[in-house]
Amino acid sequence: MKYVAQALISIQIGLFILLSLALFHSCEDEQHRKTKPHKDIGPEFRELTKEYLQLSSDHGIYHNRLVPIGLVDLSFDYPTIGTCWLYEHHRDIDIDSTYWKKASPLGKKMLTFHEMSHCYCGRGHDYGPKAEFNYSSGFTAIFNKILVINKDKAHGYYKDGCPLSIMYPTTVADACYSTHYNDYIKEMFNNCKAY
Ligand SMILES: [Zn+2]
Repeated sequence: MKYVAQALISIQIGLFILLSLALFHSCEDEQHRKTKPHKDIGPEFRELTKEYLQLSSDHGIYHNRLVPIGLVDLSFDYPTIGTCWLYEHHRDIDIDSTYWKKASPLGKKMLTFHEMSHCYCGRGHDYGPKAEFNYSSGFTAIFNKILVINKDKAHGYYKDGCPLSIMYPTTVADACYSTHYNDYIKEMFNNCKAY
């Protein structure tokens, strides 16, 4: 009985955390889009785009095109806070304006770099040697994060529980971003197919 009660408490905590978590999202199905494609780089993202492209070239990666990006209201699609849209001849990024207002400067940067890694590099939600998740399995990643069992490199995590990559499908704590910042920046250019 005790075990059952504990399990129920964990599930309740899990659900609470699940509801308070924001998901990243990468999507290729433009039919579900409720926002208009961006044509320009929004003012909030000019410096970040410059920094991202500089980091790309530091890693020997050169992109031929720019990815337009802007703030939009994604509340209808909660808990999505960012999306890279991949069309045949166009790519652009939506970032949720409500999340943007609340996020720390580091959180903003890493969310933007996450979406840019989808759009500029064609990266998926691959965050470890055996961890390749797409959007539909984002919930698996959340539960793995909450109820976690295997926090090791083979399963896509550092020992401290931080994911090995910012391509993790959900938001990551700022503490992880600052502790592993240099690794994350280096890792995000792995397997990059330049746009
Ligand atoms: Zn993503």
